[in-house]
Amino acid sequence: MATIVGVGGVGGHVAQQLALAGLGSIGIIDAEELDDTNRNRYVTARVSDKVPGMPKVDIAERLIKEIDPSIEICKVQDSLVSDSGFQAVLRSDYVFGCVDSEGARLVLTELCAAYRLPYFDIASDIEVGDIFRYGGRVCFASRGECCLVCLGQLDMGEAQQELGGPEARKLREAIYGVERNYLGRAGPSVVSINGVVASLAVTEFMVGVTGIREPQRLIIYRGNMGRVLASDDVPKPDCFYCKGLWGQGDRADTRRYIRAGVGAFLR
Ligand SMILES: [Zn+2]
Repeated sequence: MATIVGVGGVGGHVAQQLALAGLGSIGIIDAEELDDTNRNRYVTARVSDKVPGMPKVDIAERLIKEIDPSIEICKVQDSLVSDSGFQAVLRSDYVFGCVDSEGARLVLTELCAAYRLPYFDIASDIEVGDIFRYGGRVCFASRGECCLVCLGQLDMGEAQQELGGPEARKLREAIYGVERNYLGRAGPSVVSINGVVASLAVTEFMVGVTGIREPQRLIIYRGNMGRVLASDDVPKPDCFYCKGLWGQGDRADTRRYIRAGVGAFLR
């Protein structure tokens, strides 16, 4: 089973492609419901979908079943950081992280390292500044050889703030709230950018499982330059997540995030 964590703008594309690619079982995890602001970029959404009231996992399930009703779906309408979220991830052969927060990426990094799960992390990115930059990246963490952290693809400060309790999160909201609101109003449609990075990830998955070649550990899409690059950056040595945590299983105590109740705050 391949499990998609977050079936929003990026995860919806991944769900569609994995279904078309013929996977027999797909896991989908997302606690949220469809919002009207999502409609310009969700391949899972239909104009008849009522807001509020449509869980994102339900519209993802519908899309998968329309493509092939025989696909077995493990559906979790809850946070990744929950009993059912963790159980679904641990049942997987591959994990696709399509999340919006660094905190969720850190939890997935730990969980996949502890239980030796190959993990594709997908991110799209838009920067509205002096130069309009857009693109994204796909990181493939596996075999304790590389991960988001040692490839420099995770903002640990932000992740720790997101996971660090209500006071830390309040501070972060105060810092980023204005900028977020601005982007929320003026943000361009990113459906095609999400589609590029999701397609890159599914292509790497396909070449990996069919044995054509090993997936690239880091692919960078620089849309504003019209480029896709395979990074030749060497992972930093002695990464705690790749070396210390790899294969530790229950001893890694990733369930401490569930006990701390951070699931309600992560997207
Ligand atoms: Zn690492």
